[in-house]
Amino acid sequence: MTSHATQADAACGKSRWQAWRILILLLAGAGLLASPDFVLAQTASKSKSKKSDAPQPAGPRDYSSANFLVHTDLPEAEANDLLKRLETMLTLISKYWGRPNKQTIEMFVVRDLAVWPPNSLDPVGREMIQQKAGITMSTGTVNRQTGKLLAAKARVYAIADRGVPQHEAVHAYCHQMFGHAGPTWYAEGMAEMGHCWRDGESRVHCLPIVVKYLRGSEPKPLLAIVNSRDQTGDSWQNYTWRWALCHLLANNPNYYDRFRPLGLGILADQPDATFERVYGSMSKEIAFEYLFFLQHFDLGYEVTLTAWDWKTKFRHAMPKAPIVCTVEANRGWQASRVIVRKGEEFEVSAEGSWTLSADSPELSPFGVELPNQKPPEKPAPAKKTVTSKRNLKTEALEELPSIIRDESPFKSGQLVGVLFNDYELSEPFAIPADGSFVAPGEGQLFLRCEDAWNRLADNKGKVSLKFKLKTDN
Ligand SMILES: [Zn+2]
Repeated sequence: MTSHATQADAACGKSRWQAWRILILLLAGAGLLASPDFVLAQTASKSKSKKSDAPQPAGPRDYSSANFLVHTDLPEAEANDLLKRLETMLTLISKYWGRPNKQTIEMFVVRDLAVWPPNSLDPVGREMIQQKAGITMSTGTVNRQTGKLLAAKARVYAIADRGVPQHEAVHAYCHQMFGHAGPTWYAEGMAEMGHCWRDGESRVHCLPIVVKYLRGSEPKPLLAIVNSRDQTGDSWQNYTWRWALCHLLANNPNYYDRFRPLGLGILADQPDATFERVYGSMSKEIAFEYLFFLQHFDLGYEVTLTAWDWKTKFRHAMPKAPIVCTVEANRGWQASRVIVRKGEEFEVSAEGSWTLSADSPELSPFGVELPNQKPPEKPAPAKKTVTSKRNLKTEALEELPSIIRDESPFKSGQLVGVLFNDYELSEPFAIPADGSFVAPGEGQLFLRCEDAWNRLADNKGKVSLKFKLKTDN
């Protein structure tokens, strides 16, 4: 026995919300499902639609590739470019979910509604496009007894902005392959990730407006994102929180091993595939890293380099048994192994040096330029070797602009410390060059080489440190 189901994922202005309520009621009455929403990418549509000098075609034409059939009024070159981007994205997401796409994804991608003949678009799709947004509508049959998806066909209607078609294409793939796209936080977070993904890269590639919004907002509690039952009336701002959480969980080595199976469980409708079940035991750690990400990320930020070290054991230093650790220039906060009490005085020795980019001078652990020594051997100049498990790229990556100005009070290359205590961080402080350090508070001491948080990957070098508790004598 089968039933008919329709899923709709829409992006619309707030004024449309009433209309949507009516539509949902109508669909619900007919035994259908609908989950309209906003699409973050719509915010980009004003800024970057490319003006082509080529004459505009008179109306929509069809373009197809291995996995897509696109009806669009875009000029041929742009249409082909879009197809290429969609294919690349689909390769990435289907690889991620381990399910090669099996069915053509049909899309209506519109730049200028005026050149589309009447009746050439579904009225709901047309509405969404008028709102400069997108919608994925799918029809399908499911076995009512097993709940198993028998067939589904999705259609995307999207404004011709690169972000919107790609966002909607992720939904279309999920609907056709799995019958749905999961709870809102997952469906929208992953769809937003879809148009930001780059092969083999974990750097942040989102829209600048996302950085500005998230860095300038009071952080939304993690559980408020995950537990929200709000499937519908929503804002592009909410998409950014979901994206941030999905980006963190999908890329941070502390969490990504569980995130993919969780996603597959969600898409397979397994009842135990919930955020709480999978991550409940790590919820404090995730909340901490999520907050940290929101406070420090920018374009180019890599969670692989800044993942928190939850494993290293800490202890109190003794006068006769110094604690030794190493701090790498290209990582975020690193465990010193030392627990400190407020006012404790340490003798610190630091050996080593670092550089903050391929062509910058060598610096001491206190950010002081070192006198030119013999030229270092250069085995592989200008190549970036990021030591993260996920980053397989070896060629130099283009530098992404910073959206937020780095306002650190410390000198670049300065060894800086912070105290971690019950999932909270102290204000950072410089480790003084004179070899004497007085703990400003209580907690586990973490250390790093001062540099912009989104510019860590090109740093080289490391520093070895020794902490010895000073005795009164
Ligand atoms: Zn969506």
